[in-house]
Amino acid sequence: MTQQYRVTLLPGDGIGPEIMAVAVSLLKAVAPQFDLEFQFQSAPIGGAAIEATGEPLPPETLAQAKESDAVLLAAIGGYQWDSLPRAQRPETGLLAIREGLGLFANLRPATIFPELLDASSLKREVVEGVDIMVVRELTGGIYFGQPKGIFTLETGEKRGVNTMAYREGEIDRIAKVAFEIARKRRGKLCSVDKANVLDVSQLWRDRVELMAQSYPDVELSHLYVDNAAMQLVRAPRQFDTIVTGNLFGDILSDEAAMLTGSIGMLPSASLGSSGPGLFEPVHGSAPDIAGQDKANPLAQALSAAMMLRYGLDQPQAAAKIEEAVKAVLRQGYRTGDIFSPGARLVGCQAMGEALLANLGS
Ligand code: NAD
Repeated sequence: MTQQYRVTLLPGDGIGPEIMAVAVSLLKAVAPQFDLEFQFQSAPIGGAAIEATGEPLPPETLAQAKESDAVLLAAIGGYQWDSLPRAQRPETGLLAIREGLGLFANLRPATIFPELLDASSLKREVVEGVDIMVVRELTGGIYFGQPKGIFTLETGEKRGVNTMAYREGEIDRIAKVAFEIARKRRGKLCSVDKANVLDVSQLWRDRVELMAQSYPDVELSHLYVDNAAMQLVRAPRQFDTIVTGNLFGDILSDEAAMLTGSIGMLPSASLGSSGPGLFEPVHGSAPDIAGQDKANPLAQALSAAMMLRYGLDQPQAAAKIEEAVKAVLRQGYRTGDIFSPGARLVGCQAMGEALLANLGS
């Protein structure tokens, strides 16, 4: 029986519409191959929404996103909106939709493609074969804990405060997501904390240990965050799935991503406990190359693959798109951002066509 999905498309600004068009064409191409049917509905977010409605996340966009099975976002932002008050900036729309959909788990893969090994700043033999998924807690920890603020002491001296706090339930739900993901990958999970110093981390470690009892097929290890930061650049192949809190995850996910050396290749996913997930490339709207057919659509294509795998539970269709990405790289197609001499320089559209050709369309 044909499986139907409603997908909200948020093309956003800058190169967003160009790379979104490629992702949609890929989804349309794989759909009949796996007996899937997508109903796509576009909605404005970011600068495009500010122009249309005055707000970066119109209530209609959020309502539509909530009604769908998955949300595919391209990128938001642009110079022309940078001087608006914070509440009206494109970035505020992005934070608002993450909050509105209750997305507490951020998935950031760092995968090395053999053809792009030289884009990494690390040695070939260190990064070859790296395939890591960082699962970051997104809505708790020190970015949200109370008390927070800058307070004036009786002496007149000011004191800045943030609080790193996690409730058991917050730890359990992110741990569960991470164990489930590790199970879909190579079955190894490394939990990163600072339990030697922080009480909140001790609770984190205890709850992750407890959750591990429900996942005997997943091999769990723990690392202190300082050691994890070192190990990521020393021997990154040791990692499969990493789970960590908001602050540590913010830093480690960027560190892991940079092992790959190229921003135009990095997808991400944000998941909640129920309702649709949000899938988007890590990069921004690249206003410097917008409208010039120069954008690399591969991170957007890989975001569509993450949507299929982690949002819609269609791993075969996801793998098909991922294979097409590997194939175009093997065949030498490169957009400007990942170009090296000897490769075939193509624009966004031509890269999309090359991907389609590898999907058998
Ligand atoms: P950016 O990621 O947009 O661009 C950084 C550099 O990488 C630029 O030189 C750009 O041309 C290049 N680049 C990025 N993606 C590319 C792609 N797919 N193909 C080829 N080249 C690519 O970051 P920025 O310049 O700091 O920010 C530009 C705008 O994007 C800002 O308004 C910022 O707020 C916004 N932004 C949005 C998101 C998001 O939507 N999630 C993330 C980061 C930045």
